[in-house]
Amino acid sequence: MSLDDDFNTLLSDTQRFLKQQAELYGDSLLISKTSVQQPASEPFHKEEQTISSTTGPSMPRKSKTSLIEKNDASQATAPLHAYPAEPWISADNIPTLNQAINTCMKCGLGKTRTKFVFGVGNPKAEVVVVGEAPGADEDAQGEPFVGRGGQLLNKILESIQFKREEVFICNILKCRPPNNRDPQPEEIEFCEPYLWKQLELIKPKMILCVGRIAGQSLLKTNASLTLLRGKVHDYRGIPLMVTYHPAALLRNPNWKRPCWEDVQQFRKLYEEMKSEK
Ligand code: URA
Repeated sequence: MSLDDDFNTLLSDTQRFLKQQAELYGDSLLISKTSVQQPASEPFHKEEQTISSTTGPSMPRKSKTSLIEKNDASQATAPLHAYPAEPWISADNIPTLNQAINTCMKCGLGKTRTKFVFGVGNPKAEVVVVGEAPGADEDAQGEPFVGRGGQLLNKILESIQFKREEVFICNILKCRPPNNRDPQPEEIEFCEPYLWKQLELIKPKMILCVGRIAGQSLLKTNASLTLLRGKVHDYRGIPLMVTYHPAALLRNPNWKRPCWEDVQQFRKLYEEMKSEK
């Protein structure tokens, strides 16, 4: 190996490390032994899709409400009253809301998008999955999670007995940020009220956020993904869990195992809520 090869290997290892850190913690750099995980067998492959949720990690034996973490989004209803003059506020169903917002030009992404990506699935879904923002494939097709990450999301959902069509899938941002950069705070500020309204109309029983940015935005926190996952949070009375983004799992297959554990816990709580009805 030449010195150049050594240098290039070091450079790409460093870039990979920094990317992992950003996925977990955002802009702060955290150097610890726990960020380097041992290889794990890969969940979400055929054999593991058949494992039933009852074989997953068990929830502590407490009532479901005592497990829910309180946060800034816990108590109030979504502050939609801040937008009284905007026509979409009065939409009383999901297709009408789509019609009312899909020509939005509030932020710069309106000019660069190919298609507005409203969301897809069952307008009466019991589970809403929230991602970050459309990527290139989603921007081209107008549907969230249709690329490689989308295929993996479908497998994750199947592993906990949900079909893609049964849930509702959407994002914090409805338009693609150029070059897949992180959403900017003002883009989230303009776009997130559309998601609040979607949630108000759908009234899901549970919300699954995939990725740090979706979790941080809905819960109004800067907590790292490491802190957000593995817990049940409260989004305006709706239990919400956060797990890894499928794109992060494609880059770091070692995270598939903890993600699988998160979603097993999600399914278990869903079953408990259904049985308590
Ligand atoms: N990543 C997301 O967060 N959402 C999509 O729709 C596609 C990729």
